[in-house]
Amino acid sequence: MDKNIFEKIRDEEAEADIVYRDDYITAFKDISPSAPVHILIIPNKKIKSLNEIQNEDTHYLSKILLGSAKIARQFDVHETGYRLITNCGNDGGQEVPYLHFHLVGGLKLGKMISLSKSEKKQFNDYKSTS
Ligand code: 5GP
Repeated sequence: MDKNIFEKIRDEEAEADIVYRDDYITAFKDISPSAPVHILIIPNKKIKSLNEIQNEDTHYLSKILLGSAKIARQFDVHETGYRLITNCGNDGGQEVPYLHFHLVGGLKLGKMISLSKSEKKQFNDYKSTS
């Protein structure tokens, strides 16, 4: 089966600015950053999303969390703060089907979830029917 873009980056078959790598995780700069610091962190094992995590994979999650703090220090946002996000599935806004965490920082981030006008309407409709 064809590799997706993050598998290719992991295997160094596609270009990326890799900023950290160890036996468990690879981290690289997002091609279209949403903040001054925007790093993507993936497990070296292909896992499609958080939904597909198995018990034997949980060490990858610990390594991602430990790696995040190291990368935050590397990019000097350890003290000022940063956000770690994973998008899962369609409603979560996941575009690349390879588990990844976004580490974003370098500026004061707004509310975690900021709904557009139409999303607010969807949410209000949902509240009135539930
Ligand atoms: P998602 O929406 O799946 O959570 O995030 C996918 C992220 O991957 C997006 O922020 C997007 O900019 C980034 N991305 C997509 N293609 C590439 C690529 O070829 N190289 C890099 N470095 N980032 C990519």
